[in-house]
Parts: sequence; structure tokens; C-alpha cells
Amino acid sequence: MSEAAGVMVDWLTGHLEGKPVRTSRKTLGELRGIFRDPEAMHRMDPATIVYRVEYWLPVEEGTPGGLFWGTTVLEPGLVGDEYFMTHGHFHSTRDRAEFYGTVEGHGALILMDESGKTWMEAMRPGSLHYVPGGVAHRMANTGRTALRVAACWPSDAGHDYEHVRRHGFGARLREVNGKPSLEPER
Ligand code: MN
Repeated sequence: MSEAAGVMVDWLTGHLEGKPVRTSRKTLGELRGIFRDPEAMHRMDPATIVYRVEYWLPVEEGTPGGLFWGTTVLEPGLVGDEYFMTHGHFHSTRDRAEFYGTVEGHGALILMDESGKTWMEAMRPGSLHYVPGGVAHRMANTGRTALRVAACWPSDAGHDYEHVRRHGFGARLREVNGKPSLEPER
């Protein structure tokens, strides 16, 4: 006899179900300062939900050697010519890595090392992405439907949002002639 798992994942959507599952959400208003065009931001409803996260922390945050699981649902949209994106972060414990797996939708994983060098990987259903330690990461939705991404990261990684809030990434993903283009910051 086996016990039922405490958490179920729907592999078609990444949706997590179960008692230990927690959720968070991020609105456009909370992402103020992340997008480059404050005027475009001003014309939009700050209550617009940009992304939601469902996650399971089977051990306490900060525990060495444990793992966390989460699913991010990033809505489609633009602020001016910049795609809806997540805040982005380094891990507080810098050398901690992470897996991202695209479940549904199309987007980009934007990556930046500590020198500010920025690059991207295309995200499409099934694409699996390894984010090495010491590399900041954020996702942008370049499609017309929700981008759904599952992630697995170490329980002692932590999130350093401050560095990105202050310095941003070295490039921005903008829609140029209807296509995504990673444009370096001046
Ligand atoms: Mn991370």
C-alpha cells in the first residue's frame, strides 16, 4: 500500500493542486520601475495581473539540501514595446542553479551574469532551461497566450530582487517590427 502524494501537477498546464500549495501574484503596479516606458505604464491599469506563481516548499526556506517546485503563469501583453516579464532576480546564495521547463506558450528566458552581460534563450512548449549559479534570470512572454513554466530550485537559493531593481538587466526584450529583439541598454 502506498500513500497518495500530497501534491499533484497537471502536466498540460503546470497547475499544482494540494494542501501545501501556496500562491502569489504580481501586478503591473508592483512592477513599476522595471519597464522602461513610464508613460505607457501610466496608461495601463496598475491592478493588471502580470504573473501568478503556484509553489510547493516541502522544507523551510533556507534549508540546505532541499528543493522547491513552482509554476509561473505569465500573461501576454506589452508595456509600450516591452513584453510583459517577471521581475527577475539573482539567487541570494549566488552559486545556486535552477531548472525551468516550458509547459505552454512562447517566450524568452533572459539571463545576465554578474558583469551585466545579458543573453536569452527562446522558450517554447517542452524547452528545458538550466540557469547556472551566478546568473540572474527573468522571463518575458512574446506570445499571445499565457506562458506557463515549471521550475525547480534549491531551498537555500533565496531571491535577491534588489540588484535587479537598482541596476536592471543589460538588455531589454522589445517588440521591433513585430518581432522580439534583445536591445542593449545604453
Ligand atoms: Mn530563481
